[in-house]
Amino acid sequence: MVDTNFSNPLTDCSENCFNNDDPENKDPASKKKVKAVALLSGGLDSNLAVRMIKEQNIEVEAVAIKTPFCDFDCGKGCGHKVMEVSSELDIKLKTVYLGKEYLTMLKNPKHGYGSGMNPCIDCRKMMYDEAKKHMENIGADFLITGEVLHQRPMSQNSNALSIIEKESGMEGKVLRPLSAKILPKTEPEKKGLVDRSLLGSIQGRSRKGQLHLANNFGIADPPNSAGGCLLTDPQFSKRIRDLMKYSISEPSINDVELLKLGRHFRFNDYAKLIVGRNQGENELLLSLALNSDYLIQTIDTPGPISILRISGSRPDLRKHKKLLLYSIGITLRYSDVLPEKNCKVKVTNSMSRTNKIMSSLPFSIVEVEKYRI
Ligand code: SF4
Repeated sequence: MVDTNFSNPLTDCSENCFNNDDPENKDPASKKKVKAVALLSGGLDSNLAVRMIKEQNIEVEAVAIKTPFCDFDCGKGCGHKVMEVSSELDIKLKTVYLGKEYLTMLKNPKHGYGSGMNPCIDCRKMMYDEAKKHMENIGADFLITGEVLHQRPMSQNSNALSIIEKESGMEGKVLRPLSAKILPKTEPEKKGLVDRSLLGSIQGRSRKGQLHLANNFGIADPPNSAGGCLLTDPQFSKRIRDLMKYSISEPSINDVELLKLGRHFRFNDYAKLIVGRNQGENELLLSLALNSDYLIQTIDTPGPISILRISGSRPDLRKHKKLLLYSIGITLRYSDVLPEKNCKVKVTNSMSRTNKIMSSLPFSIVEVEKYRI
């Protein structure tokens, strides 16, 4: 059994003992196997939480959530990580993608945003809702998460944790093994399904407690905590704020995917430009371009690919000429063309079957910065 009393060696017997008066505890053979669902990411905390509960001979199944901004609650490239972690832990895994419904929530989150555009309380509530569905499907007794009290300012303080629980109808049913001893007793602890004395009392942003536990569990090379949510990134937050402000209708997943690439410029309420930063981004931009988008490519000089996206209006070269000239000027700024040299570009649009050569001077850096998001 792993020692979890690294940060609070004092234990309280009245809280820690199993309820030995419970007739079910006296006859283990007659006991239904206790089951829990875990919200799993590829990070360390939820991994430890699952290990602590499995050690108590409790069956655990996991749910991993992906949103347009966060890969399985764990940042870029962790989609595979969460699969690896679940197989290492030898637990079943259900993956859930929150797409459109997440964007709808993001436009107007009930509990607002954190330091960026991160709606952590509403986001966690959606995750709890998915975990709850899985709990009901498999007849699990409670939910476990890798949350650590006071680790994250918006969603991991006592008040936020209790709001999230309450709003997802999970009051008392969410056990956070890493911090359990400094949180109110949960239903599974009160019922004697879980031994509280074996749970942790970690709090705050330091990783010391988790690393100690990881060492006790023999985890070589422990991963970082889950992170990497784009909505906490200040630069990305500017882009998503701009998208929310100017979208006529609900933003699409395609709109969000575009935000992850290139340099972004806004001309007015309905027109924006995205300029690729390298070959890889140019190719991705081509794959994300809609039929209604104008594509701009340099002809004689190496340069980026740009997308001019105009909302709520059919492509019309004459009507959009000024916006196209701005777009060409900015695109050329990032090409190899000399500052004073007029240069040709190809402008295409699938919807209107446009395929035209246009030319312009590159914008100066001052002009470019006027439009940058
Ligand atoms: S940082 Fe906040 S918004 Fe982002 S995934 Fe975590 S809880 Fe959700």
